[in-house]
Amino acid sequence: MNRRQFMGAAAAGTAILARPLTTRGASFDLIIRGGRVIDPSLRLSAIRDVAIAGGRIAAVEASLAADAVETIDARGRLVVPGLLDIHTHYAREKEGPLVGLSDGVTGWIDAGSQGADRIADPVAIARSAPQPGRVLINIGRGGILPDGDTMEIGRADVGAAKEAIARHRDLVVGVKARLSNAVAGANDVEVLRRAQEVASAFNLPVMIHMGQTVSPLPRLLELLKPGDIVTHLFAPPPNSIIDDSGRILPEVLAARRRGVWFDVANGRNGHVRWDMVERIMQTGFWPDTLSTDGNSMSRTTGVIDFPNVMSKFLMFGMTVDQVVACATVNVSRVFPVFRDRGTLNVGAPADVAVLELRDGRFEFVDNYNNMRTGGQRLFPSGTVLGGKRIPRA
Ligand SMILES: [Zn+2]
Repeated sequence: MNRRQFMGAAAAGTAILARPLTTRGASFDLIIRGGRVIDPSLRLSAIRDVAIAGGRIAAVEASLAADAVETIDARGRLVVPGLLDIHTHYAREKEGPLVGLSDGVTGWIDAGSQGADRIADPVAIARSAPQPGRVLINIGRGGILPDGDTMEIGRADVGAAKEAIARHRDLVVGVKARLSNAVAGANDVEVLRRAQEVASAFNLPVMIHMGQTVSPLPRLLELLKPGDIVTHLFAPPPNSIIDDSGRILPEVLAARRRGVWFDVANGRNGHVRWDMVERIMQTGFWPDTLSTDGNSMSRTTGVIDFPNVMSKFLMFGMTVDQVVACATVNVSRVFPVFRDRGTLNVGAPADVAVLELRDGRFEFVDNYNNMRTGGQRLFPSGTVLGGKRIPRA
């Protein structure tokens, strides 16, 4: 949407609100006042008031004279669309979605915590989560296993996975294939082939966990279709996205051109090493989406929270607008469940993250205990979900 369309939409939103004004004392349910609204979907970065009515964004204007039942004072804060985390393990415990929500996460995907055998567990957590949560089924029927999800190829059970998806078609939105040597060994290509067989039967995407694979990355990428996702894009060798001379592999560039997404997934072990991030970012090959690979325990790891993961990329040259885009509007294009989210457009569900951007010296740790110091860090400061203010956990 361009600026003119946005102004038109804002005017339409105001017109719709004539009714609450006359039927109740207050014209809006909630106004978030005076924050810097950063919404890349609207190309907006300016001080704005955000008004919410009936669980939807009702107006985004420089200064709203109207009254509201409740007000959030966001002066000195950033007001951004609710964060969408495309790679989490929030469906491992029932606390996961709540931890995410208090960090500003208003939509999440559980990336393969469970396979066919126990798919009902993450599905139940997704179903009862306050915010939209969806599940990728691990192609390994036992889910994430300490001795490797698909080290035994029989665990990549196409029939079992198809049956599980058919039973939970509303909440299972893709297939996860973890392909590292320690997870799939030399089975990586066959595991991915089976994941695609399952996914294509339901017209769903596959997310591959890349890095430290037995097979060369191009051999895996050639099995990906438009809409599939490569997660852990900064994974160190063997089989990273760059060659020894620091050039992005042509097959990686070709995959992006045909519509394969590249996602960060911070995680804890083996995925992010600062020198790799630096080399890859310097080539100009930047992530489509940021994500935490987090769970309810992540506050004590290097992940901490989604805004902290976003802050790491400020350190590597992305702007605040760019990291917000990678946590909002970009994600809305990847999974249909998020299609009308990741935006503060008038009429959209009123999911909002209020963040604080602090200047200072902040230490960020990678997955190898290397430390780098950045000059800015984003902190979660408040969440609004469906127009309701969420108490900080
Ligand atoms: Zn993961």
